[in-house]
Amino acid sequence: MDVTATSLSPRRHTRQIAIGSVKVGGDAPISVQSMTTTKTADVEGTLQQIYALAAAGADIVRCTCNELAAAEGLVQIVPRSPVPIVADIHFHVEMALAALEAGVHGLRLNPGNLRKPEEIKLVASEARDRGVPIRIGVNAGSLHPDIYERFGGATPEALVESARIELAYFEEVGFSDVKISVKASSVATMIAAYRLASETFDHPLHLGVTEAGPLPGGLIKGTAGIATLLAEGIGDTLRYSLTADPVEEARAGRQLLESLGLRERKGLDLIACPSCGRAEVDVIRVANEAQDALNALDIPIQVAVMGCVVNGPGEARHADLGIAAGKHRGHLFIQGQIIRVVPEADMVEALVDEAKKIAVEGLAARLAARDASAEAEAEADRALLLGDRGLDANHATERIERIRRRAH
Ligand code: SF4
Repeated sequence: MDVTATSLSPRRHTRQIAIGSVKVGGDAPISVQSMTTTKTADVEGTLQQIYALAAAGADIVRCTCNELAAAEGLVQIVPRSPVPIVADIHFHVEMALAALEAGVHGLRLNPGNLRKPEEIKLVASEARDRGVPIRIGVNAGSLHPDIYERFGGATPEALVESARIELAYFEEVGFSDVKISVKASSVATMIAAYRLASETFDHPLHLGVTEAGPLPGGLIKGTAGIATLLAEGIGDTLRYSLTADPVEEARAGRQLLESLGLRERKGLDLIACPSCGRAEVDVIRVANEAQDALNALDIPIQVAVMGCVVNGPGEARHADLGIAAGKHRGHLFIQGQIIRVVPEADMVEALVDEAKKIAVEGLAARLAARDASAEAEAEADRALLLGDRGLDANHATERIERIRRRAH
């Protein structure tokens, strides 16, 4: 049973726009974005990265358009990309016009860097005529100096005001095919800015904590900001900004949405116990090996790797498939029921083999095909383990006796 999405606040209603084939806002699925790190002029290198991002879960990819060679690269990238392409524009109005000419599916303009009203309106008019949406991408680190001064800093109100002013220029030329972001590297500022933006605009919101940094801190900051807002029903598309391979951004975005129940699982969800003194196996090693092997299969399945059979199968009974270690053996289970006992060295192989069979035959068929003796074998291992280092390891019987004597 998936209770996550229904436990979140209802999604705030926004108008819908389309970035190429991907709808953003309204009742469209929340989409994942990332940005290439290659030179956009390097067409083959950029396309390779775009394909990797799409495979990791990106629905939309942004490329910088910072020079004419980049715009020329976009001419070739756009038709060969598996996902819509957005051109990132700072400072140069000519680059925005060149990107539109290249056929991109969307533009991102930074109001802090492209400041002349006549230039902003020129880009908006051109985008309007071509039916290309624009993201007003406000960034706390590059806020317009006048707004920064007026608000005494990059406050949430200042970020939203910057978006409002830009939107007003767009509306002057009859253009409203817009989504908005109000990013900051401070999670608290970003959350407050998006809350205010969601009260101020009905345009789709693109969520992100900017310059979140390397892993794991960047992931934590990104998740703290983005997940908080998603849980409040705010946000229509998102990007993690990590100082890492952008594939990590796409993967994180996708996993966040899947873990909140906001997108269907399309790949592996590996859960693993944190391990403790009871562990009968190196849980970290087995979990990593299982993750690598199962990721390659691209099967939408939740798999558990548990360190001991005493608690493992019960604690992970919600998982489709799992393995728990006990007495140099692995107990393979489906939804908490033991189906097979395998040698410890074969644990990962057994998991992969069973995952493949589940993908073809389904969970019920694989449960029906379980070894008749598996549950009894597993019970014997459990009993042995409890005897070795279970309650008796703490001299439980005597201690409980003493506790009871004290109580009387
Ligand atoms: S499953 Fe076993 S090894 Fe893992 S944390 Fe729970 S008790 Fe410890």
